[in-house]
Amino acid sequence: MSAITHHTPDAMLAAYAAGNLPHAFAVAVASHVSLCTQCRVALEAHQSVGGAILEETGAVAVSSNLKDDILAQLDAPFTPEPVYDRKGIYPGPVMEAMKGRAPRWKKLGLGVRQDILSEDANGSVRLLYIPPGQAVPDHSHSGLELTLVLQGSFSDATGRFGVGDIEIADEDLEHTPVADEGDACICLAATDARLRFRGLMPRLLQPVFRI
Ligand SMILES: [Zn+2]
Repeated sequence: MSAITHHTPDAMLAAYAAGNLPHAFAVAVASHVSLCTQCRVALEAHQSVGGAILEETGAVAVSSNLKDDILAQLDAPFTPEPVYDRKGIYPGPVMEAMKGRAPRWKKLGLGVRQDILSEDANGSVRLLYIPPGQAVPDHSHSGLELTLVLQGSFSDATGRFGVGDIEIADEDLEHTPVADEGDACICLAATDARLRFRGLMPRLLQPVFRI
């Protein structure tokens, strides 16, 4: 595997560690961390800071909202964990999202295929298969999209993305990713809800785009 050069932004790792990412993004971040030693170390630092805060506040009187908080947590979607042993091209969190099955590719035209792993009001997680030299079809989205390369590579105006690289694109980033020659490019693509995270994401992206 070539070296990973496009990482999960630190603010997004912090949000993941705190359990504040939409489920679809948590799948993508957990999958990247599963492949990336650098982000694994950074995530562990965030997790130990979070743990220390919990310990410090542990002695505080139990909030009257505790019951509500616990009930809310029971309703919250399960947050995927990084998995460091990998089978084939799919990291553990992707295998989990696939529920152990093989990809069920559906044709999108021009040789491009997709397999939607989950889709609900909070976002979607899908696998994309792009033949060498083929452009990724315009699957317009009004929010943020995280794309993690699992096989092959693609390039766009912002650079080249190989196995393990994660691209974070919002609606303002004009890009036409094209799969490079060689192996077909297989990616995990996660999109967020159309409206819900508008406030959160610009804050998370601040360190990336320096806005
Ligand atoms: Zn990384």
